[in-house]
This record gives sequence, C-alpha cells and structure tokens, in this order.
Amino acid sequence: MWLPELNLGTLFIDGGWGPSSAGTVFESTNPATGETIGTLSAGDATDTRRAIAAAATAQPEWAARTAYDRSAVLYEAHRLMRERADDLAHLMTVEQGKPLRAARNEVNYGADFLLWFAEEAKRVYGAMIPSPRADQRFLVMHKPVGVVAAITPWNYPISMITRKVAPAIAAGCTVVLKPAEQTPICAVAIFELLAEAGLPPGVANLITTERPEPVGAEMLASPLVRKLTFTGSTEVGKRLAGEAASRMKRVSVELGGHAPFIVFGDADPSHAAKGAALVKFLNTGQACICPNRIFVHRSLVGEFVATFTERVAALKAGNGLEAGISIGPLIDRTALEKMNRHVSDAVSKGATLVAGGEQLTGEAFGQGAFFAPTILSNVTPEMTIYREETFGPIAPVITFDDESEVVAMANDTSYGLASYVYTRDIGLALRVTEALDFGIVGINDINPTAAAAPFGGMKESGLGREGAQEGLAEYLETKLVGLSI
Ligand code: ADP
Repeated sequence: MWLPELNLGTLFIDGGWGPSSAGTVFESTNPATGETIGTLSAGDATDTRRAIAAAATAQPEWAARTAYDRSAVLYEAHRLMRERADDLAHLMTVEQGKPLRAARNEVNYGADFLLWFAEEAKRVYGAMIPSPRADQRFLVMHKPVGVVAAITPWNYPISMITRKVAPAIAAGCTVVLKPAEQTPICAVAIFELLAEAGLPPGVANLITTERPEPVGAEMLASPLVRKLTFTGSTEVGKRLAGEAASRMKRVSVELGGHAPFIVFGDADPSHAAKGAALVKFLNTGQACICPNRIFVHRSLVGEFVATFTERVAALKAGNGLEAGISIGPLIDRTALEKMNRHVSDAVSKGATLVAGGEQLTGEAFGQGAFFAPTILSNVTPEMTIYREETFGPIAPVITFDDESEVVAMANDTSYGLASYVYTRDIGLALRVTEALDFGIVGINDINPTAAAAPFGGMKESGLGREGAQEGLAEYLETKLVGLSI
C-alpha cells in the first residue's frame, strides 16, 4: 500500500468511495517539509447527512449480527493492520511528522484496539437481579447506543480512530467519523482496511474535510446520531459536548491535559530524569499525557536537571524518516508561535533557560516548524506555561519542598488527565495517588497506557474512558426487563 494506491479524493459512504457532493477538495501536507502529499475530498453537511443516513440504515442489521460475526471483522482488520504496519507507519511519519519508530509504535497501539475489542465484543454480558417480589425476575441487557459521530485529532492520527471505531462496531453501533484536517490520509488508509476486513456498507463512514464546523454541526443536529465521541482540544470539546447534551446525545470527550510529573526526595533522580525526557518529548510534546509541570524536590533539583539536560542534548530533531531522529516537527506555525510565547513569558518572569528555547532553522529543517527541545528551570505559578497546556517540546521544572505543597500544586489546574509520581516509598506513592485529581497515575512508570487499560481524564480533561471494558460500555445502553412469572 502506498499513496497512489489509496482512494484519495473520495469519501467513504455506505460502503463506496466517491467524491463529495460539492466536488471540492483540500490538500494534506508533510509538516517536516511543507510539501503537498495528497489531495482529498472536502465533505460538507450534505455528505455528512448522507453518511448518517447510511449509518442509521445499516445499524439494526449490524446489531442483529452475532457478536462472533462482529468480532471476526475486527480480527481481520487487526490482521490487515499488522500486515501493513510498515506502510502505515511511513504514511504517518510523512503526514503527521513523528519519527518512524514512534509511528510504528502508534500503529501497533492502534492495532491493539482492534484486537482487544474483537475479544471484548463477545463479553457483553447481562445480569439477572433478584427481585423483592417472589413472582418477578429482573434481567439487565445491553444494547448498542446506535449511530455514533466520531471526531479525531491529528497527534495520534491512527490509534485515535481505532480506539473509537473498534468498540463502536464491536458493540453493534455504526459510525460516521471525521478525522483531523491535518491527517486525513491516515484515516483513508484505516477505512480502506476496515472495508477490506469485511465491514458491511454503512457500518463505518468517513468524511474528510478541511472545514470541521459544518460537519460537526450536522452530526449534532441529526436526531439519528445518538452519541458523540470526540478527542481534541478542551475548547472545542466543551462546546461540542454542550451542544450534544442539549440534544440528549451520549458524550465521551477526551481533551487536554497538564500532567504533573512529581519527583520526590527519595527517588533516583537519574532514573526519573530519563523517564521525564522520554515522556515529555514523546511526539515532540504533542500528546495530552505529556508532562507539563515537572515538580522536583529541592534536594534533587541539581542532579535531576543535570541528567535531564544530558538526555535532552542527545535528542536529535529532523525529518522523522531519517535514522536517529527523535524530535519531529510541530504540526504547524501556530504551534511554533505558542512555544516562543511560553518561553519568552517564562524567561521574562525569572525562569532559567537551561536548554533549547528557539526555533530550529537551516537546511536540515526545510519549511518544517521545528522547535529545539527546551528545558526551563525555576518555573513559578505566575508563568503562562504553569497554567496553559504547551503541547510542544518545552519542559518546565518547578522546585518543591514537601508532600502537601506539591499535591496542592499538582491539583491546581482545571485539567485532570495523566500524572506521574517518582518515589521508592510505597506508602507515599499510594497517599499521593489517592490525593491526585487525575484519571491516570504512573508510579515510576511513564507509559501507563494500553488497549486493556481505561484511558481518560477528570475535570476539564474529559468525560468517559477509552479502551478496556469501560471503553466498550461507552457504546452500550442498559435495558432493564421486569418479568412476571
Ligand atoms: P487541535 O487544537 O489539537 O487541532 P481541535 O479541537 O481543534 O484540536 O481539533 C480536534 C478535532 O476537532 C479535529 O478533527 C478538528 O477538525 C475537530 N474540530 C475542530 N473544531 C470543530 C468544530 N467546530 N466542529 C466539529 N469538529 C471540530
């Protein structure tokens, strides 16, 4: 599979690839080079309506299939995805910018959702509940929610699709998906694979577009759509969730994060610094679980920053297709401006610039929006970076003195997605874990994610969970049956 073989320039509706009703198109570009890599069909409200109608027609028949049938399609999609992993990873690097090895990891992670929900599809169990009446029995059964509207982001352009589509179709729902305008080709590649795996027409539909508003508005306006699942910015997610709520649609939203990374005085500073360097610069800092505030106990700051700086100095930025690259480009120029704003604000308020701090230019970086991996120390709560999600390769280090102080600082954010704790004291680890208002806690662990684990945030980081059994429950309604005997 390579670009010329993909159905570019078409939408996938009701099992067929075809142009948008208005015939308009848009381009996808490589963020490392600025080159156009493909032309796509720009769907609008009319196309979305057609896709929703197809999904609504297909839904009862899909739900009536046995769980074993639905599972078989997911197993086959998983097989195809593993078979195409190299091509998909290459495509992802070209379209989204992350280094090839990271892209390969994401493809595997994305495939894991197909496998996990192929398995879970067969485990949608009900219950029989004792009744207070001798002549009555209660049954509880689960039914698919119905037609699902899914909106996905550019930072994880493949796994965020499978994390939504796999549980939806496992549950017996049908889907209309709108991928991010920056990474539509990855979505086309995944939908081709789903179609080849044997999904019946209408079960999964794809609307690519560069104008998300009318597509989103149609999804929310349609009474046929019973659920919205969204991953993206808090600002957009809150707005869409609000509109969905006013129409009584079910909602799952996975939004921004502002992860604290806490290194207590008894931790190994070097081990913690290595972990911080890995997770902070994951996807060039463009992940909602990236640490955004690194709290280090005063007794360890010197040693921590020294190892952290060494590690960061070894990170090589460039085109992710080249060997040895671990920092790809930012998605666009706006992100670059945000990095500059966060650094200059912090430095003007007294932060120390330990490493990086500027845009990377020159032949190796072409037209790409590259920013040097950056460390700021002496960061304080008055600085913008302390409050605002950076979504880029800037690591702010904050010094702390005691446990209650650091827990209060960690929780002092409207976000609540991931958090990290480094300590060798199990009692401390557990106390702090219980006190943190975050949906995910990594204890001496920088990768607390897997298809089998419930991913999601508290507070303004979102509603609902993805992956795990919880991730399937998001696509199921509960039906109670009272039975007189
Ligand atoms: P980011 O800032 O990371 O790009 P966004 O929230 O803007 O995050 O984008 C995440 C997803 O939401 C993308 O698929 C984008 O197209 C979509 N999106 C953005 N605005 C709207 C909207 N008004 N209606 C529907 N989808 C939207």
